[in-house]
Formats: sequence, structure tokens, C-alpha cells
Amino acid sequence: MPRVDGKVALVTGGASGLGLACAAMLAREGARVAISDIDEAGGAAAAERIGRGTVFVAHDVTGEASWTDALSAVRTAFGGLNILVNSAGIALNATVEETTLEDWRRVHAVDLDGVFLGCKHAIALMAESGGGSIVNISSISGIIAGANLAAYNSAKAGVRLLSKSVALHCARAKNGIRCNSLHPAFIDTPMLDGLTKKNGREEGLAKLARQVPLGRVGTPDDVAYAMLYLASDESAFVTGSELVIDGGISAM
Ligand code: NAD
Repeated sequence: MPRVDGKVALVTGGASGLGLACAAMLAREGARVAISDIDEAGGAAAAERIGRGTVFVAHDVTGEASWTDALSAVRTAFGGLNILVNSAGIALNATVEETTLEDWRRVHAVDLDGVFLGCKHAIALMAESGGGSIVNISSISGIIAGANLAAYNSAKAGVRLLSKSVALHCARAKNGIRCNSLHPAFIDTPMLDGLTKKNGREEGLAKLARQVPLGRVGTPDDVAYAMLYLASDESAFVTGSELVIDGGISAM
């Protein structure tokens, strides 16, 4: 039995990396999927590759009007919404002293404002669709700080507590919507390019793997499987929770 059969899902940042893996898994498990991204060519190609009726919606998560347009496109395509995966994000490797105010605002606009706007505007459509699940992709960097991650730490920590506030609001509203956050570390996607460019990708990934108790970096599907549990009715009693997917890093 497919695990999200008949549900409608929107995955932001679906052109690449974790968003793409989540969208493909939701489609394989029976959902009707819309992916959205600022990268229009990549997003259209990803929807084509996933198949199973997946549609692409051009979307900048930092814009409020872009969110209302994306959600009405999903309503037009599929008639409602049950699952929202907020995966769109950008990274910045910079200390607090190196970070310009412009960079700070850009990282928060995509990584935190984007999630806020998604939750704020999707709730009504999800509620009228009978409820569902919001899965916000934060990061292990939303729990553990790094000297060179000032803006990213701040934005991802914001997503962690925002998700809990959304969960409590929805529980009190009894609208059937749950909200949880995922906290991955070192997953092999284009986002790691910045960390691995110095000595080549293979050596860079091997260096990262040495910091992980399980001895490897993660795959996008490692995260997509966790997302699938939180998106499905199997997690019906789980809201306001955070799930780390970090090969044991945060256990040290
Ligand atoms: P990625 O770069 O492969 O994908 C990010 C996607 O977001 C891209 O397709 C990009 O075009 C899109 N995007 C960027 N800005 C956007 C905007 N303004 N509006 C809409 N789309 C936009 O990176 P990824 O590794 O798949 O990252 C996905 C999420 O996972 C991010 O939130 C990231 O912070 C988080 N994360 C990644 C890792 C990792 O190791 N890869 C670890 C922890 C958390």
C-alpha cells in the first residue's frame, strides 16, 4: 500500500538535492506532487524526470505574492494540499565578522522568511483539504553552531522553533495539520559544493565523512525517508518534533 496514497504535496526547492529526492519519493508513494523552485529550467526538468503527473511551479519562496500564486497553482492542478515540504534553502560559509548585512538578510529571506511564508499561507488550503503535514527542512546547524555559519545557524535555528509554534497553533486550531522539522547534516547534494571545492568533491566528501560517527555522508534518500514518515499518517501523533538525520554527529 503506498504510504501517502491520494495526498497532494508541494515541495519547495524541488529542482535539486533534498527537495528533488523528497518529491520523487512522495510521487513513488502515491502522492500527486507539485515541485516549486526559483530555478525554472531545473524545476521543469526535475518534474519531467519524476513523472507520475508531477507539475512544476515557478516560485521564489522569499516573496509573499509568489507564495499565494504557487498555492493557487497547486489548488488549480490538484484541488487542495495535504503535504508541504519546505526544502528551498541556501547556505553561507561566513563568520559573524565576515557576514555583510546584505548576506545576512539574503540567507534569512530564503531560509527563514521562505518557511514562515509557506506555513502562514499553506495552512488555510491544507485545512480546507482535510488537514495534513508540514515538514520544514532545517539543519543540524539549527541545533549546533559553527564559527563560520553565523547567518545559516541563525536562520535554521529560527526554523526549528517556528515549526514548534506552527505545530502548537495548528493543534489549538484543531485543523488537522501537524508540523515538524528535519535536521540533516552533510548530505551529498550540490549544497556541499562550497565545502568540498577546495580539494575536489571526492576528497572533500571523504573529509566530511571522517567527522560522522557512521563514517559516511548522507544520501538525499536518507532525508526523504524521514520526510516520508512525517508526511504520512503513520506519524499522526507526532507534531512539534525535531528529527536529526546526521549519522550520529549530534550524539557526540
Ligand atoms: P540544493 O542547493 O541542492 O537545493 C536547494 C534548492 O533550493 C535549489 O534547487 C535552489 O534553486 C532552490 N532555491 C534557492 N533559493 C530559492 C528561492 N528563493 N525560492 C525557491 N527556491 C530556491 O540544496 P539541498 O542540499 O537540497 O538543500 C535543501 C535544504 O536542505 C536546504 O534548506 C538546506 O539548508 C537543507 N540542508 C541541507 C544539508 C546538506 O548537507 N545538503 C544539510 C542540512 C540541511
